[in-house]
Amino acid sequence: MRNLRSVCLCSILSAICLAATPPADSDDAARIIQAALQPSPIQSNLRQLTDEIGGRIPGTPAMQRAMDWGVHMFKAAGADSVRAELFTIPQSWAEGATEMTVSATGTAFDPRLTQIPKVDFRVRCVSIAWAPALAPVRHVPVVDVGNGSVEEFKKAGDISGKIVLVHSVVLKTWDDLFAEYTNAPPVISAAVSGKAKAVAFIATREHDILYRHTNSFAGEIDRLPQVLLAREDGERIGRLLASGHPVWADLNIPNQVGGPIKTANVIAEIKGSEKPEEFVILGAHLDSWELGTGALDNGCNAALVVDALRAIKASGLKPRRSIRFILFSGEEEGLLGSRAYSTAHRPELDKAAGVIIYDSGTGKTTGFSTGGRKDVLDAAKSIIAPLRQFGVTELKTDMEWGTDHFDFMLEGVPTFVADQEEANYLVNYHAVSDTYDKVDFAQLKKDVAEAAEFSFALANLPEKIGPRFTRSQIEESMRETHSDEMFKAFGLWDAWESGNLGRQK
Ligand SMILES: [Zn+2]
Repeated sequence: MRNLRSVCLCSILSAICLAATPPADSDDAARIIQAALQPSPIQSNLRQLTDEIGGRIPGTPAMQRAMDWGVHMFKAAGADSVRAELFTIPQSWAEGATEMTVSATGTAFDPRLTQIPKVDFRVRCVSIAWAPALAPVRHVPVVDVGNGSVEEFKKAGDISGKIVLVHSVVLKTWDDLFAEYTNAPPVISAAVSGKAKAVAFIATREHDILYRHTNSFAGEIDRLPQVLLAREDGERIGRLLASGHPVWADLNIPNQVGGPIKTANVIAEIKGSEKPEEFVILGAHLDSWELGTGALDNGCNAALVVDALRAIKASGLKPRRSIRFILFSGEEEGLLGSRAYSTAHRPELDKAAGVIIYDSGTGKTTGFSTGGRKDVLDAAKSIIAPLRQFGVTELKTDMEWGTDHFDFMLEGVPTFVADQEEANYLVNYHAVSDTYDKVDFAQLKKDVAEAAEFSFALANLPEKIGPRFTRSQIEESMRETHSDEMFKAFGLWDAWESGNLGRQK
């Protein structure tokens, strides 16, 4: 998943302001950056993870192999220790052979025709992830509900027993992606209350690209069968309907839904020299969707985490605090691995000195988001000063949803999510085209240098960059950044309010 910002962005610090800030320990930073930029096995590591292991859904043999890859790569990079920590995902899900064909009556433009011509074509589509199966249905009317707004649903009239066709805009920016996620839940609710048979979302990518999308954010099976239609096919159906030709569909979504599955986060550690019980986390998720091979999302950054460990070890420097390098599982099903980790390690989170997450492919890193915290800005400015050479200059205090810092942020731990340019991330997002050849290795090596420098510096500060926030301080940050709106959009607000999510007090 990735990098979905809260509605309001605040406090963007200018590069000018950073220029005046001396780096905390520029010798250490230079050594680590130099070690990180040296040749390393990052390319072959990632090639094995993507081309050989492939897409990595928790519970599948590929994910098991990926976890073995993580353990092996961390050991080879020189970790002091490596372990896997198991957790449970409530349900397993796999797509079957999803099929949709549509038919309509054509235009009898030649009056000599005795029969009205038929329109008939097979639609390229996939099931939405963690959506329920649909037994084969025939000749189901398709009804266009525009962009799925309340007004459009009203205009569409009776949708009971029908397939609703939902339009979209082409994905170009992070904000578009945010909108794609926030638009879906009210559409599904309207479809459920109108007793629709299924929802057919038109893809936000052009050129027939299909991708794996989920609208279920906690590993639970969704309320209604849903398919994602290739944009070109979906628009064709929309034009038929708009020109007065009723459209019917045959649809079969034989998804396999199963019981709970075990998966694991893979954790390597470099032990701290002075305060080993305090720790910094550098993390990225190892799991991915399976239409492509999960190279940009997020294999490249899993390989980055391994390579950052290698670089810190190769520098010969020892951090005061421990650094935990974590490859999370279950991220795509709703940040489940990082939630499991932050919950299991809650008793020691007072000792967490910061969490750094990479999850936006290989677009240039422009800075970091501090998860609503202003108190860490001065120290963070000093930490990123040596990264100016790579174009890392901005600190934003916005709170984000959509990657593995989230539960740590709600536990009050200082978090830093790498903000990256979109580059080729969005067009390939969760798609058949997310493969090894899309990775910009020159940029990835810079990101390794940034991640290694940032995590080492954070682990090496004389005092932790900031205290663990209390529940009321976290809530204050939410109000300041208007993140409560984001929480409500994703159905997370009730969980926070009731204390099921985040810090208890
Ligand atoms: Zn991701």
